[in-house]
Amino acid sequence: MNVTLTTNPKQKPDSSKLGFGKYFTDHMLVMDYENGAWKEPEIVPYAPFEMYPATNVLHYAQGIFEGAKAYRTKEGKITVFRIDDNFIRMNNSATRMCMPTFDAKVVKAALFELLKLEKDWIPTEPGTALYIRPTMIANEEVLGVHASHKYRFFIILSPVGSYYAHGLQPTKILVEEHYVRTAIGGTGEAKCMGNYAASLMGGELANKKGYDQALWLDAKEHKYVEEVGSMNIFFVIGDEVVTPQLVGSILPGITRNSCIQVLKKYGYKISERRISMDEIVAAYDKGELKECFGSGTAAVISPVGLITYQGKDMVVNDGKMGEITSFLYDKITGIQSERYPDEFGWVTEVK
Ligand SMILES: *Cc1c(COP(=O)(O)O)cnc(C)c1O
Repeated sequence: MNVTLTTNPKQKPDSSKLGFGKYFTDHMLVMDYENGAWKEPEIVPYAPFEMYPATNVLHYAQGIFEGAKAYRTKEGKITVFRIDDNFIRMNNSATRMCMPTFDAKVVKAALFELLKLEKDWIPTEPGTALYIRPTMIANEEVLGVHASHKYRFFIILSPVGSYYAHGLQPTKILVEEHYVRTAIGGTGEAKCMGNYAASLMGGELANKKGYDQALWLDAKEHKYVEEVGSMNIFFVIGDEVVTPQLVGSILPGITRNSCIQVLKKYGYKISERRISMDEIVAAYDKGELKECFGSGTAAVISPVGLITYQGKDMVVNDGKMGEITSFLYDKITGIQSERYPDEFGWVTEVK
């Protein structure tokens, strides 16, 4: 693989002030698609792309991405968490968006080279990681609306701290009853750029009213729970842990799947099924809504302390992080940081 090193390495940020996605490492991976084939991946200095104003991704949003994390253990090993699943999902997203799939083995090997090169950028404090952002964009210079014939795949890396400024504090969420993120038959199960653009309005409205995130309902009946912000969502109702089933408009989160596997293995009752707001309200009124949390790579597990629906405030678990939420956060971050054994085979050493 061709590697071009930077002549101008950056100062590394203070690991207590990382925030999320504000700093980028010195190098990135780039791989171009032209004439029906992917070229070899290359490592080059992190720098702006030059592109024409007519480049089609800028107009029609034919673009997809992924999010994963790399860690550095106490002994100095570099590890990644479930990275194969990210590449499988990215190829599924590519197919949905009429983009070419890639050979995950080639890309993974190239990513590992990039991680080894950037190993000193991987923060080690608890709760920190090196965020991995694989992205693919259409980059043909043409305004006609059709699938592009040229693509660029790239991976950038960003040292990150906790996703939320206030750490693991339970969040406040507002159920969005008008705007939707995506619909069945749409692109909700692909990790594509347009889904995020579509979700901004609901998120901004929620923020303006003092909430952290919008909770998304289904587009057809505005009745069934789908996701929270850009995370999957779980509820604990009585002794059942419930998460919406993957009906086509919901992103199949890898953290969601990790939660399901952990809960099953540790004997919890976990269901993937449709869940309506009426059911949530009824459970709350009976005192059976025990916990609620979001799941995603960036935050891992994000407890929810308040859900507001049709003007009704539902305080979950006294606004504190619940027992199952804590268990999952501890278990999954413990496996990621090698505090716990890798009993599911999720951790790969980069060497
Ligand atoms: C990425 C994403 C998630 C979380 O997926 P993970 O694989 O757990 O990071 C959930 N919902 C949406 C809309 C997403 O884009």
